[in-house]
Amino acid sequence: MNSSNKIEVVKGDITKIEVDAIVNAANSSLMGGGGVDGAIHRAGGPSILEECETIIQKIGKLPTGEVAATNAGNLPAKYVIHTVGPIYGRNPEKENELLANCYSNALKLASELNCRIVSFPNISTGIYHFPKTTAAKISLAAIREFIAKNKTIEKVLLVCYDSENYEILKTEISGKIY
Ligand code: ADP
Repeated sequence: MNSSNKIEVVKGDITKIEVDAIVNAANSSLMGGGGVDGAIHRAGGPSILEECETIIQKIGKLPTGEVAATNAGNLPAKYVIHTVGPIYGRNPEKENELLANCYSNALKLASELNCRIVSFPNISTGIYHFPKTTAAKISLAAIREFIAKNKTIEKVLLVCYDSENYEILKTEISGKIY
C-alpha cells in the first residue's frame, strides 16, 4: 500500500466513526470548548475532562502544535489525542509549521500508543479561522510525510464536518488543479 491510499477524506461527525485514536482540535487549557472539542467532550463523557485536568495540573497548558492523549470515554476509540491548532494571524511566521506539527505530533503519539487507524478533524479551520485550502495542503503534506516513514499507522481519516472542507480536501488529495 502506498502512502496516498492510507489517507481517506470522509464527510461526517468525528465522534461517530470507529478508529483507534480520535484527534481533538482543543485549546491550550484542555477544558473543552465549542466546535469539535465540545462535540468530543459531550459524546465522550466526563472521564476525558478528568484526565485533561490531571494533565493541565502537571504541565500548566498545552502549547500550540503539541499533543496529549487521554482515554476516549464513550467514544468509539481507545484514545483521544488532544492538540492545539494555531489561531490564524496570531503568529504569521510560524503558523503553517505549527499546524503541520499538530498532525505529525499526533501521528507520532498515536504510533507510540500502537494505534493503526487515526481520525482528524480539519484543525484550526473553525473558530481559529485558518484558511481552509492552505490548511488542507498543510495537513495532507504533514500526514503524507509521516506515514511514508511509519509502519504502525495504517489509515488516516480526515473527517470533514462541513461541505467546504470536504470539497477542498477531495480536490487536494486527488491532486487536481482548480
Ligand atoms: P479550531 O478552534 O481548531 O478552529 P473548531 O472546532 O472550531 O476548531 O473547528 C475545527 C473543524 O472541526 C472545523 O472545520 C469544524 O467544521 C469541524 N467540526 C466541528 N464539529 C465537528 C465534528 N463533530 N466532527 C468533525 N469535525 C467537526
